[in-house]
Amino acid sequence: MDLQQLLRANIRKLHPYSCARDEFKGEASVFLDANENPYNAPFNRYPDPLQIKLKQRISALKGVAWENVFLGNGSDEPIDLLYRAFCEPRVDNVVAIEPTYGMYKVCADINDVEYRKVLLDEGFELSSANLLAATDAHTKLVWLCSPNNPTGNSLNVVEVETVLRNFHGIVVLDEAYIDFSARKSFLCRLHEFPNLVILQTFSKAWGSAAIRLGMAFASEEIIQVLNKIKYPYNVNLLTQQQALDLLNHADRTREWVKILLEERARLLEELADIPVVRHVYPTDANFVLVRVPDADAVYSYLTNKGIIVRNRNKVTLCHGGLRITVGTPEENETLVQALKGI
Ligand SMILES: *Cc1c(COP(=O)(O)O)cnc(C)c1O
Repeated sequence: MDLQQLLRANIRKLHPYSCARDEFKGEASVFLDANENPYNAPFNRYPDPLQIKLKQRISALKGVAWENVFLGNGSDEPIDLLYRAFCEPRVDNVVAIEPTYGMYKVCADINDVEYRKVLLDEGFELSSANLLAATDAHTKLVWLCSPNNPTGNSLNVVEVETVLRNFHGIVVLDEAYIDFSARKSFLCRLHEFPNLVILQTFSKAWGSAAIRLGMAFASEEIIQVLNKIKYPYNVNLLTQQQALDLLNHADRTREWVKILLEERARLLEELADIPVVRHVYPTDANFVLVRVPDADAVYSYLTNKGIIVRNRNKVTLCHGGLRITVGTPEENETLVQALKGI
């Protein structure tokens, strides 16, 4: 794969904005270079555009060099930037599994890029042959999500590898739910696949959806492309500080995950015994997809009781599907009791 050839011509030729913080990076005592207000420290200063301290902490935790890390305003940002870097509107296309996370399609539509769906099988498993057959010379990105949303299952590793080895564009593997999975992340194999981009997030296991912090892991060359086209100060200081604090208390996150996994196991058992629940799909995530005879009716019934789940009835292959997030023991019990009352 020649990454420069894969890029849109305008991005390949782009001279990125150079901010004051890019030009002078050393230690100094008088900063009169960025038209900042000298008062109201520390918020008066522009934050580190490359978030190096935070990346180094993430690097130590994940065992990946900080140069292989991109941080963005949620995973939403790298998702959008990948389109903008690689996909020429109305010329190029992307291929994604179906069903999956809705943002890949929304970003394709915003960027006016053709979005090709390849159906998972009835067990929500990926067929690499079907997926590769849907690609052509104008396919720049492939979207995989494992564990997948809204189905909850992990994709077969061999099928994912086959896509990585045989598709000559970028393969994005969204691992937003990897902390809840017994399977290993692809992170430790990043160097095996120069075309791999792995997405992770602070929104799920880290309990920090509100701070908007997403991570992308990839080759240095791909990371440099994303850095070149992002907003200069895309991750604000409050978010960087809060993330450092979270990382300093990683034991807390591990404890949350442990509790949620115990609760998931309990919830799966309870749901299996409820008459209206006709099927409980296996899950590697912090949610579970269930099938009921009339999902719209069950959804309204729960809503009337103040319990909100995600209605996936109209999603491909998910007819009758409700996606239920694992909550606190009390929340899960409230849900179970409500469903038993049907
Ligand atoms: C929740 C979720 C994310 C997280 O997105 P953020 O923008 O980081 O909050 C990413 N991918 C998938 C598949 C998700 O379900």
